Amino acid sequence: MARPFWLNLVPDEYFQSIYDVDLDSLRAKGIAGLILDLDNTLAAWHFGEPEPRLAEWVGGAKALGFRVCILSNGRGPRVELFTRFLDIPGQARAGKPFRWAFRRALRRLELPASEVAVIGDQIFTDIFGAKRSGCRTVLVVPLSRREFVWTRFVRRVERAVLRRFFAKGRLGQPVRRDPGPEGGVTRG
Ligand SMILES: [Mg+2]
Repeated sequence: MARPFWLNLVPDEYFQSIYDVDLDSLRAKGIAGLILDLDNTLAAWHFGEPEPRLAEWVGGAKALGFRVCILSNGRGPRVELFTRFLDIPGQARAGKPFRWAFRRALRRLELPASEVAVIGDQIFTDIFGAKRSGCRTVLVVPLSRREFVWTRFVRRVERAVLRRFFAKGRLGQPVRRDPGPEGGVTRG
């Protein structure tokens, strides 16, 4: 008997944002590839632009030896804007949470699932699909509350599920390590 399906909704790690993700610790765990969700993970949903800070972060990940790609259920032109800006491969209209969507990304990275972490903001698409595919899963807090109507509904269910995980001690609050865009700046 397979494990209960809802266990696939519990992420391995939970961070406030991608900038808080501990890439060194992922490397130490044998992770060599990152599959990144786009909307509300790398930029605000639908309207968010790629920021220089994001390119720095991806550059840092590459410098650490990670292979990086985007896997998004969003539209082609939007995904292309980010893959060009970040100089990484990507897949639009990916079909998450289906496993074939993740398998396609794994083939592109040429890595086994056990060496790849999926970073995303939705437990029913990013985390569920990634975990069933055998990847390590990293949940981040969504960047904006603006979303597709359907997603807004799903979010209510998601928040209820997360509250239950907190209550049961299966998940802690999101870890925040990054001081934020303002925090690191010395004013004077
Ligand atoms: Mg997302």
